[in-house]
Amino acid sequence: MQIDTRNDALLIAGGSLVTGDGRSFFESASIRIRDGLIVEVTGGRQEPAEGESLLLSDGMLMMPGLINGHAHGTILGPSMPSGSAPLMPETVRWQRNRHLLSGTTSLINVCGLALEDERDGVLGPHAIDIRMSSALTPQSLRAADAIDGRGLSSRHRLARLEEIVGCGQCRVLGEAGGGQTLGGGAQDYHFIPDAIEAKTGQRIEAAMARRLKEQVLGRKLDGGSSADDEGLETLLKEAGLEAHLTTDALRQLLETCVLAPVRDALAGLAEIAAASATFGLPAIFHHALPTAAKLGELARRHPKARMIAAHANHPSFRVEEAVQAARDLKFLGVKIDVSTLDMIQTRFRNGPENFDSLIAAGLVDTISTDYAGGDWDPIASALHRIIARKMMDLPAAVALATGNPAGIFPELFGDRGLIMPQKRADILVCEKHNLSKVRHVFVAGRQVVKDGQLYDEG
Ligand SMILES: [Zn+2]
Repeated sequence: MQIDTRNDALLIAGGSLVTGDGRSFFESASIRIRDGLIVEVTGGRQEPAEGESLLLSDGMLMMPGLINGHAHGTILGPSMPSGSAPLMPETVRWQRNRHLLSGTTSLINVCGLALEDERDGVLGPHAIDIRMSSALTPQSLRAADAIDGRGLSSRHRLARLEEIVGCGQCRVLGEAGGGQTLGGGAQDYHFIPDAIEAKTGQRIEAAMARRLKEQVLGRKLDGGSSADDEGLETLLKEAGLEAHLTTDALRQLLETCVLAPVRDALAGLAEIAAASATFGLPAIFHHALPTAAKLGELARRHPKARMIAAHANHPSFRVEEAVQAARDLKFLGVKIDVSTLDMIQTRFRNGPENFDSLIAAGLVDTISTDYAGGDWDPIASALHRIIARKMMDLPAAVALATGNPAGIFPELFGDRGLIMPQKRADILVCEKHNLSKVRHVFVAGRQVVKDGQLYDEG
């Protein structure tokens, strides 16, 4: 039997309400929905009108569906700024559902090199409104080819950003640069271990890959190969590689693997900043220690660019560097995004220190997940962390993933992100004392998660 999950007329009544504007909270409220839109928001628990479905939310918290401005792995087509082969459809479906079950109803997939018609493929459309950013510029494509590019065909190589923007297929640019092309996390967990394994038959952990990388190339990847042979030999021993690699061979391997795409990727950042200013579109930039100064330079050169510095809590930063970089960029009008990565619960490779410090400093505009090798923790868990630790109040924290991203990406999400009349009825109902416990999710008034279970993913 086909379950009818559309509610042409629905009342969600009785729960507490955070509207998403950063300030408003109601102890008890009711939301009335007609044909996918919010039509009325009132205090207290209202009675259903005739023909109206009712969901009682007493004791729970209602808020807008979350908007994730920086995710990967939710589309088919070339994956990541490295233009790598597409992920398996099963993996994409799993990632999409994981986002939905954690309360996300809108998302920007920022891999950047896939074309609009590649988004769904065999999977078909998903309940989450998945938008794609584009970074199809000549230098970004060159950077992808320098590190991988196996997912790219002549269609991608011949595509031009101005045409994609011109025909209305793309309203957001980026991700300019990426962990693969700019020596970031994907180098540590993917490309460096792969290259070392190919050469020696030994596989190393991501944390060791990062230490070797920083020891040889410097933390800013500025080629400052100041590492003395002795220090490097000690590290090689610790990694169990001393019998397989000389220090010279390691230097050469890391330079080929990490630095090869960097120059093209940096040129790609400049192309995207210029395009953002020309087209008047928001643009998402990979932000990490090696590129922080470059983003500042671009923000000064292109005052009309609408720049977003992604994952400002990137693990390449020490705490004080992350805060200073974010402060400098914010002063230049750049929006500051932080990503959950795997640092809220999973703690596989990253810790929460940079995230906490940026939140405490009041510098953060939005919270996204990024990818973290597929290990990303939910945005709702990050919100719970912020609230439980009293780093921000509830309305201000919730705005980081609702009203704020809607305001930063109005061409994508101007119709949602707030609980108020005429907005799209994307609604999340969760436990009041722990936002990460998601009970119900509605997309345009249609129930897609019920009692924490997938109800209608298509
Ligand atoms: Zn990135």
